[in-house]
Amino acid sequence: MKKLCFLLVFCLLLSGCVTKPAPQVQTCEAGHTDEGNDGFCDVCSSLLLVFVDFYSLNDIHGKLDDASTHPGLDELSTYLDEARQMDDHAIFLSAGDMWQGSSESNLTKGQIMTDWMNRMGFAAMALGNHEYDWGEPAILDNQTLAQFPLLAINVYDRATNQQVPYCESSTMVDLGQLQIGIIGAIGDCYSSIAADKVEDVYFLTGADLTRLVKKEAQALREEGADCIVYLLHDGSGSNQSGTVSNGQLKSYYDISLSDGYVDLVFEGHTHRQYVLKDSAGIYHLQSGGDNEGISHVEVAINTVTGNIAVQTAELVPTSAYTDYEDHPVVDELLEKYESQIALGEEALGTNAARRNNRYIQQLVADLYYQAGVELWGDTYDIALGGGFVSLRDPGYLAAGEITYKMLYSILPFDNHLVLCSIKGKDLADRFLFTNNARYYISYGDYGASLKEHIDPNEIYYVVVDTYTSLYAPNRLTEVARYEANVFARDLLAAHVKSGGLN
Ligand SMILES: [Zn+2]
Ligand SMILES: [Zn+2]
Repeated sequence: MKKLCFLLVFCLLLSGCVTKPAPQVQTCEAGHTDEGNDGFCDVCSSLLLVFVDFYSLNDIHGKLDDASTHPGLDELSTYLDEARQMDDHAIFLSAGDMWQGSSESNLTKGQIMTDWMNRMGFAAMALGNHEYDWGEPAILDNQTLAQFPLLAINVYDRATNQQVPYCESSTMVDLGQLQIGIIGAIGDCYSSIAADKVEDVYFLTGADLTRLVKKEAQALREEGADCIVYLLHDGSGSNQSGTVSNGQLKSYYDISLSDGYVDLVFEGHTHRQYVLKDSAGIYHLQSGGDNEGISHVEVAINTVTGNIAVQTAELVPTSAYTDYEDHPVVDELLEKYESQIALGEEALGTNAARRNNRYIQQLVADLYYQAGVELWGDTYDIALGGGFVSLRDPGYLAAGEITYKMLYSILPFDNHLVLCSIKGKDLADRFLFTNNARYYISYGDYGASLKEHIDPNEIYYVVVDTYTSLYAPNRLTEVARYEANVFARDLLAAHVKSGGLN
């Protein structure tokens, strides 16, 4: 193990979020000990311990750029490169949601991120729900490009009832003296994906997922895995730390997996930061979302007994590498994909004041309504526009020049505009009088009048996007679809261009 002293200093500074268990004294076959814990027997000098360092990222969401809240992928790359040089065995992993969320990544449908992971030498990536945002063809294209496996043990094709062809259940990393098994799964997040993007697949969750992971872990052990890491695109909903009860894990992790099946769990999806130890002593880590840090665990594996001792389990915060030099890999990638991502840099116009999330979400509803009236208003009386509108990082638009790139960041989704019919009763319950704070509604005089006089059995017309229309409880029936690739951010871009935010 070759650690540089700055890392030690850094670990001391961060002792609040670093877990450092007392090292166990290791014993060689002859029963001699390694009191100094240097990995070699004090008497016969045989190799007792192999140290393996896992670095896991989750929910990067295509965030290449430096931001006021975090350094970019260029500094992160330098950190990872140094880690690889310092550690004998460094394994880079991802717990999913790597692609969607920036103009560079969206305009290349995730390929710039996959390419980055290739160049950094990632060993595996679990599939996240947002990997489905452009449908299965884009996942297949990324899988073709990736020099590492996409892992999802529990995603099945509806037509064949077979595991989808673009994912594997697990992979084995060969370290010479040791084999590391990696299993990947997506959590119970099917309903948080636009329904049309996952209509051909289903996810096995709960007891079915536990059964699959146990079977795979057993197979990996039989193949010689000395340590099994579980990459799970799901996780805790809070930023807690310390020991976690079985009850707190229950919604996404079956504690029986910690009984000899998996040795370490890297999680994602909830964008939380934590280092947790479960009741069986297995660590669970997640390092936030939108490029907020790295989960790092160092284990010492005894080559004689097979014992795995966690040496360090920590979240490496962005402050650890914010002053690092830019790694050239990011500029190389920006150059390689230049023609595809140029649109992101286009200046659209000026924003006179900072616009908060509520302002923009209401504006999107207004733009949906206006576009709907323009497209279909001659034929249909449109009651309202809008629906579920949610903004992504950073969740606001600063005053000043607006580029497409900024709009991609807050509105990365490719949901089509649709005209739908709905019964009066449902229109009232789901839209006019909704108590869902994430629904934003816009209407003209006609829609406003319906608040007073609505016939529960009458059919009305609304303009929403496919994320809202395909959500079954809304009871919407699609009547017409705007097929052009014009999404919320494009309507907003046109609004900025026309001086709407001046
Ligand atoms: Zn995410
Ligand atoms: Zn997710």
